[in-house]
Amino acid sequence: MKVWFAVSEAAPFAKTGGLADVAGSLPKALRKHGIDIRVVMPKYSQIPQQYINKMSFIGYTYVNLTWRREYYGIFTLEHEGVPFYFIDNERYFNRDWYYGQVDDGERFTFFCKSVLEVLPVIGFRPYIIHCNDWQTGLVSVLLDAHYRYYRNKGFYQYIHTVMTIHNLKYQGIFPKEMMDEIIGLGWEYFHPDGVEFYNCINFLKAGIAYSAKVTTVSRTYAEEIKTGFYGENLDGILRKRSRDLCGILNGIDYGENDPLTPNIYVPFSVNSIEDKQKNKVLLQKEAGLDVNPETPLIGIISRLVAQKGLDLIDRMIAELLEMDLQLIVLGAGEKRYEDMFLWAQGAFRGKMSANMRYDHVLAQRIYSGCDMFLMPSLFEPCGLGQLYAMRYGTVPIVRETGGLKDTVIPYNEYTGEGTGFTFANYNAHEMKDAVIRAMRVYKDKEKWRGIVTNCMQQDFSWERSAREYGNLYNQVCGITVTK
Ligand code: ADP
Repeated sequence: MKVWFAVSEAAPFAKTGGLADVAGSLPKALRKHGIDIRVVMPKYSQIPQQYINKMSFIGYTYVNLTWRREYYGIFTLEHEGVPFYFIDNERYFNRDWYYGQVDDGERFTFFCKSVLEVLPVIGFRPYIIHCNDWQTGLVSVLLDAHYRYYRNKGFYQYIHTVMTIHNLKYQGIFPKEMMDEIIGLGWEYFHPDGVEFYNCINFLKAGIAYSAKVTTVSRTYAEEIKTGFYGENLDGILRKRSRDLCGILNGIDYGENDPLTPNIYVPFSVNSIEDKQKNKVLLQKEAGLDVNPETPLIGIISRLVAQKGLDLIDRMIAELLEMDLQLIVLGAGEKRYEDMFLWAQGAFRGKMSANMRYDHVLAQRIYSGCDMFLMPSLFEPCGLGQLYAMRYGTVPIVRETGGLKDTVIPYNEYTGEGTGFTFANYNAHEMKDAVIRAMRVYKDKEKWRGIVTNCMQQDFSWERSAREYGNLYNQVCGITVTK
């Protein structure tokens, strides 16, 4: 099996969220299953110099953007056994941030075309192109329109495409004039079952409409997005494609996120849970909180956007902090949420720590040092935060939506089973109630140790998901696997 994995960010090279974590770790797991998977992504100016220094230049070619030809260079680097290819173009990828540029539509059209053009240049002919999110949404329609039957003597003829939706909220919607001015797509593709979306062009919809299979990152989210509430106006086409839509849960890299590695203050394992307490005390000190190992410490690590349930926290933050608990927040994003946390830090000195930035090291210290991890998302395709938290024995408190519902088992006081505390409705009082339930159990040291152990014994490594992706690739190519 040969797979070309197209993605707009991948850890450790470029990361804005969970997508990068997935792109950094899924291919590694798939290669262990004997799949020749290679990753292609833009060569952003933000990629750390240490990686740029190690890249080697393979060659260059050009992409047609209807009215001009655009140069691009191809660099490669093998990282942890996975070959990465980087598309280099200063005009498009030497910017102050990855997304949110005025010409994003043009930048990622260029990227989608490069993803296809580069294949004969590097001599790689995949069975599958696996696309991820709107930035790669045009690949499948461009393959159909311009490549499959018309280029390089059949080179592209038998390539299939799979589209994975990591977050349906971000769709890449642009003016329809791009159709012939930039993309070079015929108007026969501009209809409600194709790329048209409220008289604009929608890149993600293109990916959904023209790929052989569509996946998303948890089973529950795969069901949710077919409804009006979660469907972000694409529920119609998702229902239409429901036979080809499935959910495959994300995993996390268990090697890189190991409570026994020295990235945290004091390494610990399921056999030395008492050492987790030492991490908590050192975290309290570093974060300017009152040092007290008995006070429950709740962590939040998140992009600060409405999706993450921050409006519930806004409604409840004072009431929460009036209880006997501490809150540490790490996040960057919308100013209104940053202001809310900074206000709370001022109003509840010693009980609240607001860290409004992106900080990988502090993130691991929070995952390992907190008692609980709060994630009350409005919607959550998969969510990685709760998985990291459980890996470090930090008990998640989550809303039952998407991947949160699929990964956190509600704690049952009578049987001692379960890994966290959950609530169903998007309601601030229900969230507060879940926090109170967690605090009550926390007081019973024996029970609490039981939940922490349950969390640490879960297995959310990539192993199982990699097998599911492998089966999906085979299915797309019409290969039946006998077990
Ligand atoms: P999303 O992809 O929607 O942002 P996920 O839970 O899937 O949410 O993934 C978020 C990832 O980004 C996690 O690895 C989380 O630890 C990390 N993260 C989010 N905000 C920060 C931050 N401010 N500093 C460090 N890591 C962060």
